[in-house]
Amino acid sequence: MQTVTVLGATGSIGCNTLDVISRHPEKYRVFAITGNSQLTLLMEQALKFAPRYVVVADESLYQDACDIAKQMGVAAEVLCGQQALEDVASAPEVDSVMAAIVGAAGLLPTLAAVKAGKRVLLANKEALVMSGALFIEAANQSGATLLPIDSEHNAIFQCLPHDYQYGDFASSGIHKILLTGSGGPFRSRALDTFKAITIDEASTHPNWSMGRKITIDSATMMNKGLEFIEACWLFGAGADDIDVVIHPQSIIHSMVQYVDGSVIAQMGNPDMRTPIAHGLAYPERIDAGVSPLDFAAVSDFTFQTPCFERYPNLKLAIDACREGQCATTRLNAANEVAVEHFLLGNIQFCDIADVNDATLNAMASVSVNSIQQIVEQDALARTKANEIIRGKFQC
Ligand code: NAD
Ligand code: MG
Repeated sequence: MQTVTVLGATGSIGCNTLDVISRHPEKYRVFAITGNSQLTLLMEQALKFAPRYVVVADESLYQDACDIAKQMGVAAEVLCGQQALEDVASAPEVDSVMAAIVGAAGLLPTLAAVKAGKRVLLANKEALVMSGALFIEAANQSGATLLPIDSEHNAIFQCLPHDYQYGDFASSGIHKILLTGSGGPFRSRALDTFKAITIDEASTHPNWSMGRKITIDSATMMNKGLEFIEACWLFGAGADDIDVVIHPQSIIHSMVQYVDGSVIAQMGNPDMRTPIAHGLAYPERIDAGVSPLDFAAVSDFTFQTPCFERYPNLKLAIDACREGQCATTRLNAANEVAVEHFLLGNIQFCDIADVNDATLNAMASVSVNSIQQIVEQDALARTKANEIIRGKFQC
Protein backbone atom coordinates (compact mmCIF):
# COMPACT_ATOMS: atom_id res chain seq x y z
CA MET A 1 0.00 0.00 0.00
CA GLN A 2 1.47 3.35 -1.11
CA THR A 3 0.52 6.52 0.75
CA VAL A 4 0.14 9.46 -1.61
CA THR A 5 -0.14 13.23 -1.32
CA VAL A 6 -1.72 14.93 -4.31
CA LEU A 7 -0.57 18.55 -4.65
CA GLY A 8 -2.95 20.38 -6.98
CA ALA A 9 -5.68 17.75 -6.59
CA THR A 10 -8.41 19.97 -8.09
CA GLY A 11 -6.54 20.54 -11.36
CA SER A 12 -6.54 18.52 -14.54
CA ILE A 13 -3.58 16.33 -13.49
CA GLY A 14 -4.85 16.12 -9.91
CA CYS A 15 -8.30 14.87 -10.99
CA ASN A 16 -6.73 12.36 -13.38
CA THR A 17 -4.45 11.14 -10.59
CA LEU A 18 -7.39 10.58 -8.26
CA ASP A 19 -9.20 8.80 -11.08
CA VAL A 20 -6.31 6.32 -11.46
CA ILE A 21 -6.04 5.92 -7.68
CA SER A 22 -9.78 5.20 -7.43
CA ARG A 23 -9.27 2.18 -9.72
CA HIS A 24 -6.79 0.62 -7.28
CA PRO A 25 -7.99 1.15 -3.70
CA GLU A 26 -5.95 -1.85 -2.56
CA LYS A 27 -2.69 -0.21 -3.76
CA TYR A 28 -2.99 3.50 -2.89
CA ARG A 29 -4.13 5.45 0.12
CA VAL A 30 -4.49 9.25 -0.08
CA PHE A 31 -2.77 11.09 2.77
CA ALA A 32 -3.45 14.68 1.70
CA ILE A 33 -5.03 16.63 -1.14
CA THR A 34 -4.41 20.30 -1.86
CA GLY A 35 -6.10 22.97 -3.92
CA ASN A 36 -6.11 26.70 -4.31
CA SER A 37 -9.68 27.80 -4.83
CA GLN A 38 -12.21 25.17 -5.94
CA LEU A 39 -13.33 24.42 -2.40
CA THR A 40 -16.45 22.39 -3.18
CA LEU A 41 -14.56 20.11 -5.56
CA LEU A 42 -11.76 19.76 -3.04
CA MET A 43 -14.20 18.72 -0.30
CA GLU A 44 -15.98 16.30 -2.66
CA GLN A 45 -12.59 14.70 -3.26
CA ALA A 46 -12.02 14.60 0.50
CA LEU A 47 -15.33 12.78 0.99
CA LYS A 48 -14.46 10.23 -1.67
CA PHE A 49 -10.80 9.57 -0.76
CA ALA A 50 -10.87 10.20 3.02
CA PRO A 51 -7.42 11.82 3.29
CA ARG A 52 -6.00 12.81 6.68
CA TYR A 53 -5.49 16.42 5.51
CA VAL A 54 -7.06 18.83 3.06
CA VAL A 55 -4.89 21.87 2.36
CA VAL A 56 -6.18 25.12 0.91
CA ALA A 57 -3.26 27.10 -0.46
CA ASP A 58 -4.98 30.49 -0.30
CA GLU A 59 -5.11 31.43 3.38
CA SER A 60 -7.94 33.92 2.86
CA LEU A 61 -10.21 30.98 1.98
CA TYR A 62 -9.50 29.04 5.17
CA GLN A 63 -12.73 29.90 7.00
CA ASP A 64 -14.85 29.22 3.91
CA ALA A 65 -13.06 25.89 3.50
CA CYS A 66 -13.75 24.91 7.12
CA ASP A 67 -17.43 25.88 6.76
CA ILE A 68 -17.86 23.86 3.56
CA ALA A 69 -16.02 20.89 5.09
CA LYS A 70 -18.36 20.97 8.09
CA GLN A 71 -21.49 21.30 5.95
CA MET A 72 -20.43 18.38 3.77
CA GLY A 73 -19.34 16.17 6.67
CA VAL A 74 -15.66 16.00 5.72
CA ALA A 75 -13.67 14.28 8.45
CA ALA A 76 -10.22 15.40 7.28
CA GLU A 77 -8.34 18.16 9.06
CA VAL A 78 -8.36 21.38 7.03
CA LEU A 79 -5.07 23.27 6.85
CA CYS A 80 -4.02 26.31 4.84
CA GLY A 81 -1.03 28.19 3.50
CA GLN A 82 2.42 27.58 2.06
CA GLN A 83 3.88 25.81 5.08
CA ALA A 84 1.01 23.34 5.17
CA LEU A 85 1.61 22.51 1.48
CA GLU A 86 5.24 21.76 2.28
CA ASP A 87 4.30 19.77 5.39
CA VAL A 88 1.93 17.40 3.60
CA ALA A 89 4.50 16.96 0.82
CA SER A 90 7.23 15.94 3.24
CA ALA A 91 5.35 14.18 6.08
CA PRO A 92 7.05 10.94 7.17
CA GLU A 93 3.88 8.89 6.50
CA VAL A 94 3.99 9.79 2.79
CA ASP A 95 5.62 7.54 0.16
CA SER A 96 4.71 9.35 -3.06
CA VAL A 97 3.87 12.93 -3.95
CA MET A 98 2.08 13.93 -7.11
CA ALA A 99 3.48 17.41 -7.82
CA ALA A 100 0.65 18.91 -9.88
CA ILE A 101 0.39 22.53 -8.77
CA VAL A 102 0.61 24.79 -11.81
CA GLY A 103 3.44 27.28 -12.26
CA ALA A 104 6.05 28.71 -9.92
CA ALA A 105 3.64 28.23 -6.99
CA GLY A 106 4.59 24.56 -7.11
CA LEU A 107 8.29 25.11 -6.57
CA LEU A 108 8.57 25.05 -2.78
CA PRO A 109 6.08 22.24 -2.04
CA THR A 110 7.66 20.10 -4.78
CA LEU A 111 11.13 20.79 -3.44
CA ALA A 112 9.95 19.89 0.05
CA ALA A 113 8.95 16.45 -1.28
CA VAL A 114 12.29 16.10 -3.07
CA LYS A 115 14.29 17.06 0.01
CA ALA A 116 12.30 14.58 2.10
CA GLY A 117 13.38 11.77 -0.27
CA LYS A 118 9.90 10.92 -1.58
CA ARG A 119 8.91 9.26 -4.82
CA VAL A 120 8.10 12.49 -6.66
CA LEU A 121 5.72 12.23 -9.59
CA LEU A 122 6.66 15.40 -11.38
CA ALA A 123 3.99 17.14 -13.43
CA ASN A 124 4.91 20.67 -12.28
CA LYS A 125 7.52 21.33 -14.99
CA GLU A 126 7.91 24.98 -13.96
CA ALA A 127 9.58 23.88 -10.68
CA LEU A 128 12.33 22.12 -12.61
CA VAL A 129 12.62 24.90 -15.20
CA MET A 130 13.26 27.34 -12.37
CA SER A 131 15.51 25.38 -10.07
CA GLY A 132 17.02 22.67 -12.35
CA ALA A 133 20.51 22.13 -10.91
CA LEU A 134 19.45 22.65 -7.28
CA PHE A 135 16.41 20.40 -7.76
CA ILE A 136 18.48 17.52 -9.19
CA GLU A 137 21.17 18.00 -6.54
CA ALA A 138 18.52 17.90 -3.79
CA ALA A 139 17.11 14.66 -5.24
CA ASN A 140 20.58 13.10 -5.35
CA GLN A 141 21.23 14.09 -1.76
CA SER A 142 17.94 12.88 -0.34
CA GLY A 143 17.63 9.78 -2.53
CA ALA A 144 14.28 10.97 -3.90
CA THR A 145 13.04 9.11 -6.97
CA LEU A 146 11.91 11.42 -9.77
CA LEU A 147 9.24 9.96 -12.02
CA PRO A 148 8.32 12.16 -14.99
CA ILE A 149 4.58 12.66 -15.50
CA ASP A 150 4.74 15.12 -18.39
CA SER A 151 3.74 12.72 -21.19
CA GLU A 152 6.85 13.47 -23.29
CA HIS A 153 9.27 12.97 -20.42
CA ASN A 154 7.46 9.89 -19.26
CA ALA A 155 7.77 8.59 -22.84
CA ILE A 156 11.52 9.37 -22.95
CA PHE A 157 11.94 7.69 -19.56
CA GLN A 158 10.25 4.58 -20.98
CA CYS A 159 12.41 4.64 -24.14
CA LEU A 160 15.76 4.99 -22.33
CA PRO A 161 17.68 1.85 -21.33
CA HIS A 162 16.91 0.60 -17.79
CA ASP A 163 20.53 1.09 -16.77
CA TYR A 164 20.78 4.61 -18.25
CA GLN A 165 23.26 6.69 -16.27
CA TYR A 166 22.26 10.32 -15.87
CA GLY A 167 23.81 12.38 -18.69
CA ASP A 168 25.82 9.52 -20.17
CA PHE A 169 24.52 9.34 -23.74
CA ALA A 170 27.72 7.70 -25.05
CA SER A 171 27.67 4.59 -22.84
CA SER A 172 24.05 3.92 -23.76
CA GLY A 173 24.59 4.57 -27.48
CA ILE A 174 22.07 7.40 -27.52
CA HIS A 175 22.19 9.84 -30.41
CA LYS A 176 19.30 12.22 -29.62
CA ILE A 177 16.15 12.70 -27.66
CA LEU A 178 13.27 13.53 -30.00
CA LEU A 179 10.76 15.62 -28.10
CA THR A 180 7.41 15.58 -29.88
CA GLY A 181 4.63 18.16 -29.72
CA SER A 182 1.36 18.56 -31.56
CA GLY A 183 2.07 22.12 -32.68
CA GLY A 184 -1.14 23.25 -30.97
CA PRO A 185 -4.25 24.78 -32.55
CA PHE A 186 -2.36 27.27 -34.78
CA ARG A 187 0.00 24.88 -36.54
CA SER A 188 -1.41 25.68 -39.95
CA ARG A 189 -3.10 29.04 -39.34
CA ALA A 190 -1.92 31.86 -41.62
CA LEU A 191 0.70 33.90 -39.77
CA ASP A 192 -0.84 37.20 -40.82
CA THR A 193 -4.02 36.30 -38.89
CA PHE A 194 -2.25 35.67 -35.56
CA LYS A 195 -3.16 39.14 -34.32
CA ALA A 196 -6.82 38.14 -34.45
CA ILE A 197 -6.42 34.99 -32.29
CA THR A 198 -9.06 34.99 -29.56
CA ILE A 199 -8.82 33.66 -26.00
CA ASP A 200 -11.29 30.90 -26.88
CA GLU A 201 -9.30 29.82 -29.93
CA ALA A 202 -6.07 29.67 -27.90
CA SER A 203 -7.83 27.82 -25.07
CA THR A 204 -8.85 24.88 -27.25
CA HIS A 205 -6.21 22.21 -27.73
CA PRO A 206 -6.74 19.79 -30.63
CA ASN A 207 -5.72 16.60 -28.73
CA TRP A 208 -5.27 17.14 -24.98
CA SER A 209 -7.63 18.35 -22.26
CA MET A 210 -5.53 20.35 -19.74
CA GLY A 211 -5.50 23.30 -17.36
CA ARG A 212 -5.82 26.84 -18.76
CA LYS A 213 -2.20 27.97 -18.45
CA ILE A 214 -0.64 24.91 -20.08
CA THR A 215 -3.25 25.08 -22.86
CA ILE A 216 -2.15 28.62 -23.78
CA ASP A 217 1.50 27.53 -23.46
CA SER A 218 0.73 24.72 -25.91
CA ALA A 219 -0.72 27.18 -28.40
CA THR A 220 2.43 29.37 -28.25
CA MET A 221 4.64 26.26 -27.92
CA MET A 222 6.16 27.79 -24.80
CA ASN A 223 5.04 24.49 -23.28
CA LYS A 224 7.45 22.65 -25.59
CA GLY A 225 10.14 25.17 -24.68
CA LEU A 226 9.61 24.55 -20.96
CA GLU A 227 9.63 20.82 -21.71
CA PHE A 228 12.90 21.20 -23.60
CA ILE A 229 14.47 22.69 -20.45
CA GLU A 230 12.74 20.08 -18.29
CA ALA A 231 14.17 17.26 -20.44
CA CYS A 232 17.71 18.65 -20.16
CA TRP A 233 17.49 18.52 -16.37
CA LEU A 234 15.61 15.25 -16.03
CA PHE A 235 17.93 13.29 -18.29
CA GLY A 236 21.20 15.22 -17.99
CA ALA A 237 21.03 16.20 -21.67
CA GLY A 238 22.58 19.25 -23.35
CA ALA A 239 20.57 21.56 -25.61
CA ASP A 240 22.22 19.95 -28.67
CA ASP A 241 21.07 16.50 -27.55
CA ILE A 242 17.37 17.29 -28.06
CA ASP A 243 15.39 17.94 -31.25
CA VAL A 244 11.80 19.12 -31.20
CA VAL A 245 9.57 17.34 -33.71
CA ILE A 246 6.00 18.35 -34.49
CA HIS A 247 3.69 15.36 -34.59
CA PRO A 248 0.13 16.70 -34.87
CA GLN A 249 -1.65 13.45 -33.94
CA SER A 250 -0.06 13.19 -30.45
CA ILE A 251 0.15 9.40 -30.72
CA ILE A 252 3.91 9.24 -30.29
CA HIS A 253 4.66 11.00 -27.01
CA SER A 254 8.43 11.25 -27.64
CA MET A 255 11.32 9.11 -28.84
CA VAL A 256 14.94 8.19 -28.25
CA GLN A 257 17.20 7.80 -31.27
CA TYR A 258 20.21 5.46 -30.91
CA VAL A 259 23.56 5.55 -32.73
CA ASP A 260 22.81 2.29 -34.57
CA GLY A 261 19.87 3.94 -36.30
CA SER A 262 17.15 2.54 -34.03
CA VAL A 263 14.44 4.85 -32.82
CA ILE A 264 12.36 3.80 -29.83
CA ALA A 265 9.05 5.60 -29.47
CA GLN A 266 6.40 5.44 -26.77
CA MET A 267 2.86 5.57 -28.12
CA GLY A 268 -0.66 5.63 -26.84
CA ASN A 269 -3.86 7.60 -26.86
CA PRO A 270 -3.36 11.17 -25.60
CA ASP A 271 -4.61 10.62 -22.05
CA MET A 272 -2.58 11.77 -19.04
CA ARG A 273 -3.78 8.79 -17.01
CA THR A 274 -1.18 6.68 -18.87
CA PRO A 275 1.93 8.53 -17.58
CA ILE A 276 0.23 9.02 -14.18
CA ALA A 277 -0.41 5.28 -13.83
CA HIS A 278 3.12 4.57 -15.01
CA GLY A 279 4.54 6.90 -12.36
CA LEU A 280 2.32 5.57 -9.59
CA ALA A 281 3.05 1.91 -10.27
CA TYR A 282 6.63 2.03 -11.60
CA PRO A 283 8.28 -0.40 -12.18
CA GLU A 284 5.01 -2.32 -12.37
CA ARG A 285 2.09 -1.59 -14.70
CA ILE A 286 -1.50 -0.98 -13.66
CA ASP A 287 -4.74 -0.35 -15.52
CA ALA A 288 -5.12 3.40 -16.14
CA GLY A 289 -8.64 3.32 -17.55
CA VAL A 290 -7.22 4.34 -20.96
CA SER A 291 -8.58 2.60 -24.04
CA PRO A 292 -5.99 0.70 -26.11
CA LEU A 293 -4.62 2.53 -29.13
CA ASP A 294 -6.48 1.42 -32.24
CA PHE A 295 -4.02 1.76 -35.13
CA ALA A 296 -6.76 1.09 -37.67
CA ALA A 297 -8.43 4.29 -36.49
CA VAL A 298 -5.26 6.42 -36.77
CA SER A 299 -5.75 8.03 -40.15
CA ASP A 300 -2.56 10.07 -40.32
CA PHE A 301 0.88 9.85 -38.79
CA THR A 302 2.94 12.89 -39.75
CA PHE A 303 5.96 14.91 -38.62
CA GLN A 304 7.44 18.33 -39.30
CA THR A 305 10.10 20.71 -38.00
CA PRO A 306 8.87 23.65 -35.88
CA CYS A 307 9.20 27.10 -37.44
CA PHE A 308 10.44 29.73 -34.97
CA GLU A 309 8.60 32.52 -36.76
CA ARG A 310 5.34 30.75 -35.86
CA TYR A 311 6.56 29.76 -32.39
CA PRO A 312 8.91 32.52 -31.12
CA ASN A 313 8.40 31.34 -27.52
CA LEU A 314 9.97 28.00 -28.37
CA LYS A 315 13.11 29.77 -29.56
CA LEU A 316 13.18 32.00 -26.47
CA ALA A 317 13.05 28.93 -24.25
CA ILE A 318 15.78 27.04 -26.13
CA ASP A 319 18.00 30.15 -26.01
CA ALA A 320 17.30 30.58 -22.28
CA CYS A 321 18.14 26.91 -21.75
CA ARG A 322 21.56 27.52 -23.31
CA GLU A 323 22.02 30.67 -21.22
CA GLY A 324 21.28 29.10 -17.84
CA GLN A 325 19.19 29.07 -14.71
CA CYS A 326 18.69 32.81 -14.32
CA ALA A 327 17.28 33.13 -17.85
CA THR A 328 14.99 30.11 -17.57
CA THR A 329 13.58 31.34 -14.23
CA ARG A 330 12.92 34.82 -15.63
CA LEU A 331 11.40 33.49 -18.84
CA ASN A 332 9.06 31.24 -16.87
CA ALA A 333 8.00 34.13 -14.62
CA ALA A 334 7.49 36.57 -17.50
CA ASN A 335 5.47 33.96 -19.35
CA GLU A 336 3.17 33.32 -16.39
CA VAL A 337 2.48 37.06 -16.17
CA ALA A 338 1.97 37.43 -19.92
CA VAL A 339 -0.38 34.44 -20.14
CA GLU A 340 -2.42 35.79 -17.25
CA HIS A 341 -2.77 39.16 -19.00
CA PHE A 342 -3.70 37.43 -22.26
CA LEU A 343 -6.41 35.46 -20.45
CA LEU A 344 -7.70 38.71 -18.94
CA GLY A 345 -7.94 40.20 -22.41
CA ASN A 346 -5.27 42.84 -21.70
CA ILE A 347 -2.79 41.77 -24.37
CA GLN A 348 -2.97 39.86 -27.65
CA PHE A 349 -1.72 36.38 -28.37
CA CYS A 350 1.41 37.61 -30.23
CA ASP A 351 2.24 39.95 -27.35
CA ILE A 352 3.01 37.00 -25.05
CA ALA A 353 6.32 36.30 -26.80
CA ASP A 354 7.10 40.03 -27.08
CA VAL A 355 6.60 40.52 -23.32
CA ASN A 356 8.78 37.48 -22.59
CA ASP A 357 11.53 38.68 -24.90
CA ALA A 358 11.42 42.27 -23.61
CA THR A 359 11.58 41.07 -19.99
CA LEU A 360 14.69 38.99 -20.65
CA ASN A 361 16.33 41.83 -22.58
CA ALA A 362 15.58 44.38 -19.87
CA MET A 363 17.44 42.49 -17.16
CA ALA A 364 21.18 41.99 -16.83
CA SER A 365 22.26 38.40 -16.27
CA VAL A 366 23.25 37.35 -12.75
CA SER A 367 24.25 33.98 -11.37
CA VAL A 368 21.73 32.15 -9.19
CA ASN A 369 23.04 29.60 -6.72
CA SER A 370 20.27 29.21 -4.16
CA ILE A 371 16.52 28.75 -4.06
CA GLN A 372 16.26 32.16 -2.39
CA GLN A 373 17.99 33.78 -5.38
CA ILE A 374 15.72 31.89 -7.75
CA VAL A 375 12.63 33.07 -5.90
CA GLU A 376 14.05 36.63 -6.03
CA GLN A 377 14.67 36.45 -9.78
CA ASP A 378 11.18 35.05 -10.28
CA ALA A 379 9.70 38.04 -8.40
CA LEU A 380 11.91 40.61 -10.20
CA ALA A 381 10.98 39.21 -13.61
CA ARG A 382 7.27 39.33 -12.71
CA THR A 383 7.61 42.98 -11.72
CA LYS A 384 9.49 43.76 -14.94
CA ALA A 385 6.96 41.92 -17.12
CA ASN A 386 4.09 43.76 -15.44
CA GLU A 387 5.91 47.08 -15.95
CA ILE A 388 6.44 46.30 -19.63
CA ILE A 389 2.76 45.39 -20.06
CA ARG A 390 1.62 48.54 -18.20
CA GLY A 391 3.94 50.72 -20.29
CA LYS A 392 2.99 49.22 -23.62
CA PHE A 393 -0.68 48.42 -23.13
CA GLN A 394 -1.73 50.86 -20.36
CA CYS A 395 -3.11 48.09 -18.15
P1 NAD B 1 -4.66 23.16 -13.51
O1 NAD B 1 -4.71 24.63 -13.68
O2 NAD B 1 -5.75 22.34 -14.05
O3 NAD B 1 -4.51 22.80 -11.94
C1 NAD B 1 -3.58 23.44 -11.14
C2 NAD B 1 -3.69 23.01 -9.70
O4 NAD B 1 -2.79 23.85 -8.93
C3 NAD B 1 -5.07 23.20 -9.08
O5 NAD B 1 -5.29 22.19 -8.12
C4 NAD B 1 -4.97 24.56 -8.38
O6 NAD B 1 -5.86 24.68 -7.29
C5 NAD B 1 -3.52 24.52 -7.90
N1 NAD B 1 -2.97 25.87 -7.74
C6 NAD B 1 -3.08 26.91 -8.59
N2 NAD B 1 -2.44 28.00 -8.10
C7 NAD B 1 -1.93 27.63 -6.91
C8 NAD B 1 -1.18 28.31 -5.91
N3 NAD B 1 -0.85 29.61 -6.04
N4 NAD B 1 -0.81 27.62 -4.81
C9 NAD B 1 -1.13 26.32 -4.66
N5 NAD B 1 -1.87 25.62 -5.57
C10 NAD B 1 -2.25 26.28 -6.68
O7 NAD B 1 -3.24 22.69 -14.11
P2 NAD B 1 -2.86 21.29 -14.76
O8 NAD B 1 -3.17 21.33 -16.21
O9 NAD B 1 -3.37 20.16 -13.92
O10 NAD B 1 -1.27 21.36 -14.66
C11 NAD B 1 -0.59 21.15 -13.45
C12 NAD B 1 0.89 21.02 -13.74
O11 NAD B 1 1.10 19.85 -14.52
C13 NAD B 1 1.46 22.19 -14.56
O12 NAD B 1 2.75 22.46 -14.14
C14 NAD B 1 1.48 21.65 -15.98
O13 NAD B 1 2.50 22.21 -16.77
C15 NAD B 1 1.76 20.18 -15.73
N6 NAD B 1 1.26 19.29 -16.78
C16 NAD B 1 -0.06 19.24 -17.05
C17 NAD B 1 -0.53 18.42 -18.06
C18 NAD B 1 -2.01 18.29 -18.35
O14 NAD B 1 -2.38 17.48 -19.17
N7 NAD B 1 -2.87 19.04 -17.70
C19 NAD B 1 0.37 17.66 -18.81
C20 NAD B 1 1.72 17.74 -18.51
C21 NAD B 1 2.16 18.56 -17.49
MG1 MG C 1 3.81 17.57 -22.04
